[in-house]
Amino acid sequence: MRITNSEFIISAVKPEQYPVDNRVEFAFVGRSNVGKSSLINTITNRKKLVKVSGTPGKTRLVNFFLINDEFYFVDLPGYGYAKVSKTEQAKWGKMMEMYLLNREPLKKIVLLVDGRHKPTEDDIMMYEWVKHYGGNVLVIATKEDKLKRNEIKKSEKRIRETLGMPDDEKLIFFSSLKKVGIDALLNELEKEL
Ligand code: GDP
Repeated sequence: MRITNSEFIISAVKPEQYPVDNRVEFAFVGRSNVGKSSLINTITNRKKLVKVSGTPGKTRLVNFFLINDEFYFVDLPGYGYAKVSKTEQAKWGKMMEMYLLNREPLKKIVLLVDGRHKPTEDDIMMYEWVKHYGGNVLVIATKEDKLKRNEIKKSEKRIRETLGMPDDEKLIFFSSLKKVGIDALLNELEKEL
């Protein structure tokens, strides 16, 4: 698959604003700073489709992008931002539930973890939560360019063990900087179309 067209549709604050055309959706989620905006910009071949904001005030927005006029990328707010208040965290949780539960067009949740580090408690919670609700998850390890070849193997083992991933579940290493993993990721998504 090649992405030839991508268009920002809406920053939704409530479910009534989500698209109703039933096109397939792929959601992206991960810790703040994991490289989520960069990844979406890289695979859509756009410099600023997703604006890099990182501001805690934006933690409740669910951003929809129409891709190839065929399906949506849904950019979910990052978690684990150190300076976010308990109230804001609770709102984040509520927003996630509102979107992830009962979202019929959602075919895959792309969970991004930092390839350089052991997945955090938040990452583990997110992975387990998605699984618990029967979601179809695809784990992506970001910033592959920061790792040497032998470190990639170690990182893969650490991520798989920490998250408790089954052996047959895909784990894709990705680099926005070096454009690694784009085809592998798009191929996985294409299977759902
Ligand atoms: P987000 O908060 O998850 O949307 O993360 P961003 O895409 O804004 O990236 C966070 C930081 O990580 C920025 O400083 C990026 O330049 C950096 N970053 C993102 N992707 C990569 C990558 O593939 N390789 C490296 N080395 N740095 C990256």
